Amino acid sequence: MEQMLTDWSEASISSPFAAVTSISPDTELHAYKWSVRINRSDILHWFNTFYVVPSSTPTITMTVWLDLYRSGQCALFDDFVAWQTSGWLVSPLTSCTCPIGLKQYTCKHSVGLGILFNMYQVTDSTLCEPLGKRKGKGRPKKVRTALLL
Ligand SMILES: [Zn+2]
Repeated sequence: MEQMLTDWSEASISSPFAAVTSISPDTELHAYKWSVRINRSDILHWFNTFYVVPSSTPTITMTVWLDLYRSGQCALFDDFVAWQTSGWLVSPLTSCTCPIGLKQYTCKHSVGLGILFNMYQVTDSTLCEPLGKRKGKGRPKKVRTALLL
């Protein structure tokens, strides 16, 4: 049993991006849209590859979120609820503490951070999707360049 665990953890170190292959086009599209909309100043680095990102309905700032997380002082129930629904702890392309991330290992946050950090290349069909409505009206915007700014 111990050997199994060792093998497993070593395998996850030598191929940390194994999860990438299981990213569905749908997740990728959500992740891409998320990465375009997210305010980068709302993303806090915690340690190593872990980052804190706001949920879609944050009631506290990410700075407060991280303070609560570090101190472990979510003593008041209201604090805990605010904390639990305001932000997620994300490791790009690896894991996320949001409900979807916990279930599927990949979600728009973990993939989205991968996109923001140029760790993950979105497919052309995903890049075209948000521009679909503008078809025929002049040149398409250079989305890829905008992301690198
Ligand atoms: Zn997530």
